[in-house]
Amino acid sequence: MDESTMLEMAKLVKGLLGIDKSSENALRNKNTQLVRGYSGYDKQTGAIGVPIYQSSMFVHEKYGTSTGFGYGRYGNPTRLELEDTLAMLEHGKKAWAYSSGMTAESILMKLLKTGDHVIVSDDLYGGTFRLFTLTYAEQYGLEFSYVPTDDLEAVKQAIKPNTKAIFVETPSNPIMKVTDIQATADLIHNQGGLLIVDNTFLTPYFQTPIDLGADIVVHSGTKFLSGHNDVLSGFIVIKDESLIERIFTLTMTEGGVLGPFDSYLMLRSIKTLGLRLERQQENAFKLFEFLSKHPKVERVYYVGDPNHPQYELSKRQSTGFGSMISFKLKNAAEVPDLLNSLKLILFAESLGGCETFLTYPLMQTHGAIPEELRKRVGVDEALLRLSVGIEDAGEIIADLEQALG
Ligand SMILES: *Cc1c(COP(=O)(O)O)cnc(C)c1O
Repeated sequence: MDESTMLEMAKLVKGLLGIDKSSENALRNKNTQLVRGYSGYDKQTGAIGVPIYQSSMFVHEKYGTSTGFGYGRYGNPTRLELEDTLAMLEHGKKAWAYSSGMTAESILMKLLKTGDHVIVSDDLYGGTFRLFTLTYAEQYGLEFSYVPTDDLEAVKQAIKPNTKAIFVETPSNPIMKVTDIQATADLIHNQGGLLIVDNTFLTPYFQTPIDLGADIVVHSGTKFLSGHNDVLSGFIVIKDESLIERIFTLTMTEGGVLGPFDSYLMLRSIKTLGLRLERQQENAFKLFEFLSKHPKVERVYYVGDPNHPQYELSKRQSTGFGSMISFKLKNAAEVPDLLNSLKLILFAESLGGCETFLTYPLMQTHGAIPEELRKRVGVDEALLRLSVGIEDAGEIIADLEQALG
């Protein structure tokens, strides 16, 4: 599409060109933005709850006219309000909402070609590793290097003439390593490539990678953004206009977009994102203190630990530490007993919700990662990952205490 075709297309596809960063809500405080969203309310009807436009098709009244909506893959008003809200929160220009985080990541990999090289954080969500390896490396010939992206020198060493992107998860999953977003952006920009940041763990409430130089932010909205363990979703947010056309074309061609009802649920969830995250973080700090002193615990991984190697970096590039904590037991043989003894904490394979979850990465989220890489990173038999919820902190601690005993 050249520019004039894009402008013609924009008449048919509402929101195609992204948000107005100087609009009233885009200039407001984040806490207000979370509650009010991009538009504030439905301008058509005055509805405060964004209506669920459960329609996959939209009529054109006359030849040559359009409401800005036509076919559902191109856009839907409920989804558009969610997308605009995400773009606003992440300080980006344009966002798209998908039916899962993995769909969003898969769309991003299609910006690349066979022979392109991508540097990826070596400590990352197992599903991401599976997608990159099984689909994009083995079937389509993209090349991936898994590198400790918290070590800038290692990233520098890994750059090759065909390196087109760096994909980082920060904090990383489950070892909680922190990547310097600004410095990594500078490295890849020297080379004309893209920095993609998976912002699932901190969300735009605590971290806005685009302000630090990232070109693209990707999310599993299934986690903190949803917060209630009831919606699968994913997002792509881009910094500026330059990628709109390509990502729009991929999206309207493939679909994989979020349905209107789930879009509504996500908008509803996002209203309380700040409240949930503050409470989760407060609880997480108490859990961190408890675990750090427990005689059966070998080591605790928490970004808010003042002894964390990138504590100062975290304070510089994020406004919070989040609520993900990993820890290792001294005796890995006690893991099954611990999991079986939980009474309040749920043994489940996700994160970010109101409920506290304990995950066994080796068997669950990181099962797809080969042993050699897992061992190098430190995901072993003794490692457990806690996603701290909003329940009473004392009762969460008491449950862990009895289960560890
Ligand atoms: C869960 C997760 C994903 C995948 O998202 P889905 O919504 O499950 O498809 C990607 N990255 C991170 C960090 C995750 O935790």
